Amino acid sequence: MARITLENLKKYYGNVKAVDDINFTVKDREFVVFLGPSGCGKTTTLRCIAGLEGVTEGNIYFDGRRVNNLGPAERNIAMVFQFYALYPHLNAYRNIVFPLRAQGMPKTEIKKKVKWVSSILKIEGLLNRKISELPDGDKQKVALARAIVRNPHVLLLDEPLSALDERFREQMRLEFLKIQKALNVTTVYVTHDQREAMTLADRIVVMRDGKIIETGEPESLYEMPQNLFTGYFIGSPGMNFFNCFIKPNGDVFCEDVLPVHFSVSISKKLKTYKLSNLIFGIRPEYLFFSDKPDKTSNFFAVKLVNIEVIQQVLYGNFYIDDKLYKCCIEEGEPTDYEGYVVASDEKVRLYDPENGKILI
Ligand code: ATP
Repeated sequence: MARITLENLKKYYGNVKAVDDINFTVKDREFVVFLGPSGCGKTTTLRCIAGLEGVTEGNIYFDGRRVNNLGPAERNIAMVFQFYALYPHLNAYRNIVFPLRAQGMPKTEIKKKVKWVSSILKIEGLLNRKISELPDGDKQKVALARAIVRNPHVLLLDEPLSALDERFREQMRLEFLKIQKALNVTTVYVTHDQREAMTLADRIVVMRDGKIIETGEPESLYEMPQNLFTGYFIGSPGMNFFNCFIKPNGDVFCEDVLPVHFSVSISKKLKTYKLSNLIFGIRPEYLFFSDKPDKTSNFFAVKLVNIEVIQQVLYGNFYIDDKLYKCCIEEGEPTDYEGYVVASDEKVRLYDPENGKILI
């Protein structure tokens, strides 16, 4: 098993800073997901860990040993890509044993290994079937079996589920989780799909423009994103962010037009920051539509334009200026679409618009 440390890691392609000074440690046996939009440097980071790319600057350590100059085989990593590189004309068994035969492992040992890996992945029934006959989800399981049959120190996965259709993806996500726990191997997984990251990760690394924006356990990134980008990227529907203007007397206006009432405790904290602008962040599921304001809480007036159901939850849509926001409708569809949205103190997040960092 292995602990992976990335120290001031940089990988530049000409002027493109694909990975721009990353520092992070993946703990032994941890499942870490690198999450971010296309082009943010996730795959490049993974390829540097694998030894498939040389680094421009910085160091990579496995269990404290610098591996910069070691190739993938010497690092004892296994990598699974979005497109499973299997031999379609061979059966699953022969695909899985391929790396073991290449190593010259004795036949009895090979059999034991295949038995072990196929029981973890529950693919005993597929071993005699040709790859070309298997559905995509099963092909990816065989690819995974072939990767882990050698007992790698580190498992690296680059969007392994993105080629599957949504139905398979959901199922495979859960199976992946069980498999990783059963294998107990240090795992780095790359995806742009926040739901995948939320389901799978012990810890998520949020990336943008070659840099790490934030790291943390899925729940803490969801509940208390430390910056606007994480709040925007994690969660579906995404977090509401209201641009607010604070008058010298302390009155707050959303998008310059709509008075916002903050609770006594939040108003007090706000005063200490002495800001003229702030961003009020709240997840739609914590912003409740109500026919009356709650003076002890945080609220402002809205007029819903419509109501929609997303994953069995009723959401109301409303505009401020020309921007669309969402709130949660708790008690069935209201008869009157004019009312208030209310948020409790513990769910309100305030951000500094200058740097996008959380204030409270
Ligand atoms: P995606 O999910 O789209 O693959 P990513 O987050 O994995 O995105 P990378 O593939 O790591 O991002 O790419 C990061 C940046 O580095 C991008 O701007 C990309 O165009 C650039 N890049 C990656 N590989 C190379 C290369 N071999 N040569 C030149 N530029 C590259």
